[in-house]
Amino acid sequence: MTKYIFITGGVVSSLGKGIIAASLGRLLRARGFSVINQKFDPYINVDPGTMSPFQHGEVFVTDDGAETDLDLGHYERFTDTSLGKLNNVTSGSVYSHVIRKERRGDYLGGTVQVIPHITNEIKSRINGASKQFQPDFQLIEIGGTVGDIESLPFVEAIRQFKAEAGIGNAISIHCTLLPYLPTSGELKTKPSQHSVNVLRSYGIQPEVLVCRTTKPIPKTEKEKLALFCSVPKEAVIECRDMKSIYEVPLALEAQNMAKVVLEMLRVPDKKADLKDWEKLVDRIKNPKKTVKVAIAGKYTKLSDAYISVVESLKHAGYANDAAVDIKWINSEECVDEAKCKELMQDVKAVVVPGGFGIRGIEGKLNVIKYARENNVPFLGLCLGMQCAVIEYARNVAGLKGANSAEFDENAPYPVIDLMLEQKNVHAYGGTMRLGAYDCILKKGSKAAKAYGKEKISERHRHRYEVNNEYIKQISDAGLVFSGMSPDGMLAEVVELPKLDWFVASQFHPEFKSRPEKPHPLFKGLIDAAMKK
Ligand code: GLN
Repeated sequence: MTKYIFITGGVVSSLGKGIIAASLGRLLRARGFSVINQKFDPYINVDPGTMSPFQHGEVFVTDDGAETDLDLGHYERFTDTSLGKLNNVTSGSVYSHVIRKERRGDYLGGTVQVIPHITNEIKSRINGASKQFQPDFQLIEIGGTVGDIESLPFVEAIRQFKAEAGIGNAISIHCTLLPYLPTSGELKTKPSQHSVNVLRSYGIQPEVLVCRTTKPIPKTEKEKLALFCSVPKEAVIECRDMKSIYEVPLALEAQNMAKVVLEMLRVPDKKADLKDWEKLVDRIKNPKKTVKVAIAGKYTKLSDAYISVVESLKHAGYANDAAVDIKWINSEECVDEAKCKELMQDVKAVVVPGGFGIRGIEGKLNVIKYARENNVPFLGLCLGMQCAVIEYARNVAGLKGANSAEFDENAPYPVIDLMLEQKNVHAYGGTMRLGAYDCILKKGSKAAKAYGKEKISERHRHRYEVNNEYIKQISDAGLVFSGMSPDGMLAEVVELPKLDWFVASQFHPEFKSRPEKPHPLFKGLIDAAMKK
């Protein structure tokens, strides 16, 4: 029987609830339990796929093609578990489902209301995920801050779910912030007390309190929190700012958080095997070298927009005992070739990540040209691969003015074009080529060597593809199409074998990298950079 752990947040947003939920997941996994994480997002969008990265950060894509919140990336990376459509629930998806049923007449003339119809639908999403995965533990994080109007139906659904599950089957963890007042030299507990009161006013008494803080919490303050918030002393967990997010599971383990949680859920504790994770953290904290890697994109002002790319680079660094120092290059600045050269001077490798729209494209093409001509290790991701093909077509294959139909519908050589099945698609939400598809790598190619196999599966999120009409001309000029869909119809990977590392993929490898298992394409990039 699945046991349930709900995670809410109070006082402020951006507390790192996702990391805390993922870390507790890791601690339970380390004990041999199966775990899934689920994220509830109170916004009205059906999924984050239509949101600007500036609004919401990266859109994380699962194997089954769901466009999800970036916290799912943390969950997958920390628990080494692949999640799917059922693991991210938004108000938009809940309401649209209920409204569809209402239009169909399913409610037989009844008045459709937040309670019970919306809350029942939320509860059925919890049960649906339990049914699919049958995990020992299901950790459910509610986005936003308790007290927000829009998260109320989710909070009410948790209250009902906990009551129905019965004592010992579901608990809730409330994350708060303890602000430090330098004038009095104190960590203040009052905002946390108030936040727990708000939660209680909705009928939820949290069993565990996780307090984000910049300083150690004195024993007296922990006791005060325990007393005022009605949680056991050992269930007041401190979560300090850490250099690396991967340290968090160990900090929580040191305070016996998993043990406390297991006791509350009436599950006998098991010995945790965290040896590999400890080694990983040791490597993260004591890198022998540093390597500077550029990410040339257009959402560089918000690093969350490329969070899986950043994490994948770090993972590949860990495997090399190296800290990856990321240099953010705004691709728009690279439209000027001299500026591009100047910005690229001190980097040992460059990633051109995914993206949409024409802004910054010419700059990306210059970055890729520079990498190609100067043998700077390069990895192109999705749009980055499309740009690599455009650059090669224009500057090497002699296809002047080559472009993607996304940026120039009248390009003389549309080397990147809409996929056939996309030509009649007019709605934006959930209509791209999404999720995992197989790809066959060319024997002996850099990509095949990096993976150590020829058949791979990777996640996609795009509308455009390499235009097959130009593959022959471009490959005759030297760009190797080293990965194709199994039917040979879609180009998936391109590379230049003579360079140290010039590989680009139509898929998004960044969604499958794990801290202990860096993705082969990122590892290939960093391995090559380390040799520079
Ligand atoms: N805009 C491109 C397309 O739709 C690339 C998408 C991406 O990089 N995720 O095909």
